Amino acid sequence: MYVLEKAPAKINLSLDVLYKRPDDYHEVSMVMTTIDLADRIELRHLNSDQIIIDSESRFVPNDERNLAYRAAKLVKDTYGLSNGVKIFIEKQIPVAAGLAGGSSDAAATLRGLNRLWSLGLSIEELAALGAKIGSDVSFCVYNTTALAQGRGERITELPPPPSCWVVLAKPSIGVSTQTIYQNLQLDHAEHPNTKAMIEAIKENKYNRMCHNVGNILESVTISKYPLVKQIKEQMEQSGADAVLMSGSGPTVFSLVQKETRANRIYNSLRGFCDQVYMVRMLGYHSPLD
Ligand code: ATP
Repeated sequence: MYVLEKAPAKINLSLDVLYKRPDDYHEVSMVMTTIDLADRIELRHLNSDQIIIDSESRFVPNDERNLAYRAAKLVKDTYGLSNGVKIFIEKQIPVAAGLAGGSSDAAATLRGLNRLWSLGLSIEELAALGAKIGSDVSFCVYNTTALAQGRGERITELPPPPSCWVVLAKPSIGVSTQTIYQNLQLDHAEHPNTKAMIEAIKENKYNRMCHNVGNILESVTISKYPLVKQIKEQMEQSGADAVLMSGSGPTVFSLVQKETRANRIYNSLRGFCDQVYMVRMLGYHSPLD
């Protein structure tokens, strides 16, 4: 018995931080969507009471540090289950990139175990479990386009954004999300217009969406890693309609409608970065290919 789940990467079309909360989390307001760059998760039922992680990627931990492992453990503990699962992760999403790869694997594990073990949980119940694993996991459970508030776990679904190409480049630098948030000075930061982004998506206005992409963390990451700025400039010069860093970085993405232009951006970046991708925007729950 086994099930397959697709675990797509997310990008932030806008990312705002409103204030630091008394519990030390940041109150955020983010518009996120999914792209057609995905890990594949295969879940196989085991009769023995264990969770086994299997992945060919050397960047992914194969023990309890893996977010997919934590998701399975949480389901077992919450519902007192003694059956086990072998989780095979075929990794496509670059690791530690600002694309929520680990969170998406955890979310896919929650969705998949719900099916494998016939738990009958609603999407809201799965998202509530996800929030216990990490701030982006609830969004990834919905696997769609949404406004994420609170510390990222309060999800309001949105329609899919206007469709386009997304060209992504991940430089080989490691960015600590925690350090970026610590260096954010909210008094001096430029806040993106989340409301305008939501309206652009609801009205299906491509140009308005491009005009309103924004990420309050971008300048913080750029001040530490100027390469992120160079990638942005390269994308802009190659004709991108919009360019933004995702999450706390270091991945930079560009939005573009014309395929020829997307190809031009993709080719211009391959000398710059090892990991460059050209994919379609998804923005809605996609079935397995
Ligand atoms: P976010 O955008 O949510 O901040 P990210 O894209 O920056 O996430 P991930 O790819 O999720 O980062 O990986 C961050 C860390 O999590 C890595 O150092 C990795 O060791 C660990 N990790 C745990 N489980 C996974 C997983 N299933 N896939 C990738 N990384 C994982």
